[in-house]
Amino acid sequence: MNIHIMTLFPDMVMGGLNTSIIGRAMDKGILSIEAVNIRDYAYNKHQSVDDYPYGGGAGMLMQAEPVYQCYRAVLERIEADKKPRVLYMSPQGKTFSQKMAGELAEEEELIFLCGHYEGIDERVLEEIVTDYVSIGDYVLTGGELPAMVMVDAVSRMVPGVLHNDVSAEFESFQDNLLEYPQYSRPEVWHEKRVPKILLSGHHANIEKWRREQSVIRTAEARPDLLERAELTEKERELAEAYVKNSLQSLSECDKI
Ligand code: SAM
Repeated sequence: MNIHIMTLFPDMVMGGLNTSIIGRAMDKGILSIEAVNIRDYAYNKHQSVDDYPYGGGAGMLMQAEPVYQCYRAVLERIEADKKPRVLYMSPQGKTFSQKMAGELAEEEELIFLCGHYEGIDERVLEEIVTDYVSIGDYVLTGGELPAMVMVDAVSRMVPGVLHNDVSAEFESFQDNLLEYPQYSRPEVWHEKRVPKILLSGHHANIEKWRREQSVIRTAEARPDLLERAELTEKERELAEAYVKNSLQSLSECDKI
């Protein structure tokens, strides 16, 4: 997969992505990530890329032309039959999710566009952007952190990036369930024991326990996910019992 990140702060982006698992995948050639500096496509001698918004208002806006020229330069380097998706990092976009990360991981080329200041001139967005994506309902100073978040989540779903691809398959949000609790050595820590079943070596029972724990955890922490989860009748009863119990304890608190 080839990822191109259009930004005013390439060092920030590459500094964050060059390390650990994503950095190793880049070294191995499984992933290529480049940050392209929009400022290199400024068309005035001061290399400025922002200007005042028409109609007034606070802050500056990134101008259309440097963004457009930067995009054209990226496109010229890409050898693909179809135009790649261009993801504009925006608090106004669709909220990023694990499902979206999985879909994006199927693409060969992806272009991320990071805004800064008050954002980017609407006209160039209309012309080049295919997807508007947000990482949550809050406003950041720039699109660099959202792009890094998304590139990280997408990259680890690209085959070969994780040491063991299976570990990406059974994680939180897969099947709309949160992951079960995990333990490592030592067997006893601060007088807390690892659940016995995990030491039994009985794989079928371990899987059953983990699935049950996932259902319970999701019922406790994110009951909203359960509506979309595929559960057996027994699992749904278990989940409902947990949701009901926590509601009951809530109403008891209210009584105090
Ligand atoms: N004026 C814009 C608005 O109200 O929608 C916000 C601009 S924000 C200060 C500057 C840039 O940060 C945006 O262009 C976008 O690229 C990025 N950004 C801020 N919050 C974001 C979020 N929650 N998700 C994705 N990108 C975000």
